[in-house]
Amino acid sequence: SIKDDVNIRIAYYENEMREDLVWEQKILGELEDAIKEKHLLPYLQPQVDVDGKIEGAEVLVRWRHPQEGLRMPGKFINVLEKNGKIVNLDMYIWEEACIILKSWKERGFDNMYLSVNISPKDFYYVDLYEVFMKLIEKYELDAKNLRLEITESVVMNDIEQKLLVINKLRSAGFLIEMDDFGSGYSSLNLLKDLPVDILKLDMVFLKETRNPERAKIILQEIINMARKLIIPVISEGVETEEQVSFLSDMGCGMFQGYYFAKPISLEEFEEKYLVKNE
Ligand code: C2E
Ligand code: MG
Ligand code: MG
Ligand code: MG
Repeated sequence: SIKDDVNIRIAYYENEMREDLVWEQKILGELEDAIKEKHLLPYLQPQVDVDGKIEGAEVLVRWRHPQEGLRMPGKFINVLEKNGKIVNLDMYIWEEACIILKSWKERGFDNMYLSVNISPKDFYYVDLYEVFMKLIEKYELDAKNLRLEITESVVMNDIEQKLLVINKLRSAGFLIEMDDFGSGYSSLNLLKDLPVDILKLDMVFLKETRNPERAKIILQEIINMARKLIIPVISEGVETEEQVSFLSDMGCGMFQGYYFAKPISLEEFEEKYLVKNE
């Protein structure tokens, strides 16, 4: 009967909610140890130019769980954001990124940058200007080698206060990448007020669509606009040669995606891509 159906469905949702809560508690309970035990790993995904030359890499966290294997960010980032803990993870990963940059510098590979992700929540827990200034001081780095990725949701609330922080960071020489551009609700509006140095085109524009011609028109116009604003564009999520070719025809100069490389461990990255400055 309908009543049975409804009851079964309610039981199903209750069960799902319980499972979510159990998962949340598990993640929250394990975070501190994971940081201490170095189970949070900075994976690196190359960002390349039109000729496939690597200019830098994005740092993407992976959680190597001793029993469960590799956990992807989609499984825990939102849990940490919701519970005020993301800043703990982020500060750890940013420092790991600085340690990598420092070791590259010492070995003569200071021509590459790393881009780290910043959660919109981070702004509420620490003074990001202070945090990043201390980091580059401690590891004797040049600010331009540490790029900061923010999404438009960063400036959804308390815009003035956050703009202040972002502008101070830019004045200190950090480059700001606007992540996931075009996927949100106010990307264009934001570009008007928020000074960014690099625009990362979201991969939504490359997804299968019933209307590929329309997608291309929009892409072309975003790239044209960025050029007029003198902001370089990185296309995210490029998976095929065809995508790379039409995007570079449109004037996009940088790429990040499986077509070139997946995010990989530091060891693998260094083995494959660390090439000395001539
Ligand atoms: P994001 O910053 O937009 O990073 C790009 C995501 O796209 C990564 O997923 C990357 O693995 C994936 N990707 C790259 N190329 C391709 C491609 O060609 N095809 C497809 N299908 N996917 C591709 P990942 O590593 O799972 O990270 C997901 C999101 O989690 C990131 O999106 C970022 O928002 C967040 N995240 C990752 N690491 C951190 C971190 O250390 N701190 C914070 N706050 N967020 C992080
Ligand atoms: Mg990113
Ligand atoms: Mg992105
Ligand atoms: Mg994203």
